[in-house]
Amino acid sequence: KLYNQVQDLKGSIRVYCRVRPFLSGQSNYLSTVDHIEEGNITINTPSKHGKGWKSFSFNKVYGPSATQAEVFSDMQPLIRSVLDGYNVCIFAYGQTGSGKTYTMTGPRELTEKSQGVNYRALSDLFLIAEQRKDIFRYDVAVQISQTGLNVPDASLIPVSSTADVINLMNLGQKNRAVGATALNDRSSRSHSCLTVHVQGKDLTSGTMYRGCMHLVDLAGSERVNKSEVTGDRLKEAQHINRSLSALGDVIASLAQKNPHVPYRNSKLTQLLQDSLGGQAKTLMFVHISPEPDAVGETISTLKFAERVA
Ligand code: ADP
Ligand code: MG
Repeated sequence: KLYNQVQDLKGSIRVYCRVRPFLSGQSNYLSTVDHIEEGNITINTPSKHGKGWKSFSFNKVYGPSATQAEVFSDMQPLIRSVLDGYNVCIFAYGQTGSGKTYTMTGPRELTEKSQGVNYRALSDLFLIAEQRKDIFRYDVAVQISQTGLNVPDASLIPVSSTADVINLMNLGQKNRAVGATALNDRSSRSHSCLTVHVQGKDLTSGTMYRGCMHLVDLAGSERVNKSEVTGDRLKEAQHINRSLSALGDVIASLAQKNPHVPYRNSKLTQLLQDSLGGQAKTLMFVHISPEPDAVGETISTLKFAERVA
């Protein structure tokens, strides 16, 4: 198991946090983030009696100036363990606009430097596969799915280069134009998932390794009333909030090594059951916005993350 000795892989659940920078035109805002130190983040909290602070600890915390490359390099050992037959789940969690899609995919105007985890993970897998080609034969296939209210059947597509993946993802983005809400940007009210299946064959011994990785850009975690929704949209929003809290419950019970893990409480956790728990490795990557008016959602995101850490 080539990548399993890495320090970062001790234990099966890890939690990272990333604060996005202010967007253009927000230069006069004061950040809710008081300071970041190693794996700790301190938030300025509103209080009737003046200023308050609250600190949270995670495996990693990235400030607004962290680059896509820096973030990816910390995730790399985890991602590479897929080639050794591990199952990996990476979740991007946070309110709409906090930077989940930026981390997982990148900004709308994508450059090589701004590519997110999805692209980098696949390129890295192809790179290692190429380096090991005299010893291993790897087959990689991907699946793009969206699990909001409806789960379209997602088929497995073999890929052999980064270009294949980029073509596929462009297609995926086009199909995500469902469910605009008051807060909506790029389909924030559905979970979207890139699944990567890897099959490796040791050419000398004939031993087969099968690994699977789910890269999940979760639906926005903001509370329902904020989206000003009614009817079917309200039902959809409530459904999403239930699935996010069910995911939190599953990861929290895995982190606490509870014998009972409540997988059956949502479709999302049922779908991912084989990839959560057991030998599987999970990264909960929470995202927060720096704006003072987002502080309520920021605190609830950090509390969610603290519970699963
Ligand atoms: P979410 O997917 O959580 O709704 P997005 O990823 O769409 O949020 O981010 C909201 C906006 O902020 C986008 O315009 C995105 O490009 C920008 N953004 C998010 N994170 C960063 C970052 N780390 N650096 C620069 N811009 C970012
Ligand atoms: Mg998004």
